[in-house]
Amino acid sequence: MRSAIAIRSSSTGLTSIAALALGPVGPRSPNALLTRSFVPLACLTLLFAGLLSASLAQAQSRRMRLPILVYHRFGARVTDSMTVRTAIFAGQLRFLKEHHITAVPLRGVVRYFLGQAPPPPPNSIVITADDGHVSVFSDMLPLVKQYKIPVTLFIYPSAISNASYAMTWEELAKLKATGLFDVQSHTFWHPNFRIEKQRRSPADYRRFVREQLVKSKGRLEHKLGGKVDMLAWPFGIYDDELIGLARECGYLAGFSIVRRPATSRDNVMALPRYLMTEADQGRAFERIVEGESLEPQPQLENMR
Ligand SMILES: [Zn+2]
Repeated sequence: MRSAIAIRSSSTGLTSIAALALGPVGPRSPNALLTRSFVPLACLTLLFAGLLSASLAQAQSRRMRLPILVYHRFGARVTDSMTVRTAIFAGQLRFLKEHHITAVPLRGVVRYFLGQAPPPPPNSIVITADDGHVSVFSDMLPLVKQYKIPVTLFIYPSAISNASYAMTWEELAKLKATGLFDVQSHTFWHPNFRIEKQRRSPADYRRFVREQLVKSKGRLEHKLGGKVDMLAWPFGIYDDELIGLARECGYLAGFSIVRRPATSRDNVMALPRYLMTEADQGRAFERIVEGESLEPQPQLENMR
């Protein structure tokens, strides 16, 4: 387990590039003068290759594979495809602790991807939860406190203190007050942007998207304080136009739903997250923690 996690950083390419750098060095020239000149040249080339290898190794250690997990609901029983039993979640947190895998705040990871902070430590993982379901307060909170893990919630404010399945603003404030929860944006009412694009004129669609992004950010900042500049795309739907609009509205990072780890080659406005379901137990959970790229899930219903 530990060794599997330790090899998350890729090591491909190093040998071939070093060999390329060493290419001109060789005893083939019959010219003695040239051969003598090869000695210092060889030293310089070796030194250059060594420096190149060191910087490549450094770059590759930075090119980590970070699993970002997204949960939705918890409960004693599985009532829909988006519920993970609370006991399973508790087991997953215990597993992380026993294997010295650190849950790190999403904010720090985003700062790293933006080039503003050092990389997270090896064997890190990020935990997020979308939609603001009541079970985040009733079931997730006690475990988050017990294990002291940072969690980022992505909330669409139209549901809060409104929909029967959602938390209240007071509950969200209590979560934030623990210092373990960050609350960020999931648009204002969780639209399907693909459908909205089809049924609106281009100008109306852009107005609608802006409104969803600005209103959510404004409401969350007003109600809970703090900076809201991270966005989970509803249903994981995004494209270049949406990314451009999100940037214009003050978002620095966005998150989709793809079952693979985030790497520094990813677009920071569409970082992948593993959508967690009841099936992600035992070995399946280990594969996620190890940062494996997994098969897409069949289209899951009730993704909010
Ligand atoms: Zn959602």
